[in-house]
Amino acid sequence: MSLPSLRSLLAVFKPEHSPGPPHDVRGGRFVVVIDCVLNQNVRDQGAANCSAMNFEFLRLCHENDIGIMQMPCPEIAALGFKRQRSPGTSIRQALDTPAGRLACAELAASVVARILTLSEQGFEPLAVLGGNPRSPGCAVHQAASELSAESGVFMLALQAELRRHGLDLPFRGLRDASPESLAEDLQWFGQLSAATDAWL
Ligand code: SF4
Repeated sequence: MSLPSLRSLLAVFKPEHSPGPPHDVRGGRFVVVIDCVLNQNVRDQGAANCSAMNFEFLRLCHENDIGIMQMPCPEIAALGFKRQRSPGTSIRQALDTPAGRLACAELAASVVARILTLSEQGFEPLAVLGGNPRSPGCAVHQAASELSAESGVFMLALQAELRRHGLDLPFRGLRDASPESLAEDLQWFGQLSAATDAWL
């Protein structure tokens, strides 16, 4: 009696269908968000606008099957939790120095590497959501298609790093210092979510 070939033995153990990635229920989209949207504790003293997180934003992400990539706070990365700086120096001035800009650039590089890792798997980054107009690290101010110079030091570094890798994501502040502005920003995000499709 002849022995069975290796191929016929392997065929017994092979799944019936082609091996591709197993099906699951992920939506395949994500948004890149500053730290304090999900954790107000990272804000500087006196700057928190809610007790823990922006729940309305979370609800929108949940309803639209959008994952959230949370970026570490750049002010803490550059200056420490207490935003250490010399007397009379603003946080913006302390962040907008060679050392502060380098810390923001390094953080931007690690965030963009993570975005690229997910993008390469086919997941779609929808936008970058920054902070209030006066945030030294995360303000988002637009001038045509570019962030203008008054934007936060980290947002500027992040847009530059994204573009260096050929990614041109929309930026928008989640301006929770003003209920009217926040409502506009959430509406914008809701429309953006509706304009693209989840995998589901
Ligand atoms: S620097 Fe950015 S992440 Fe940190 S508290 Fe300010 S707005 Fe939030």
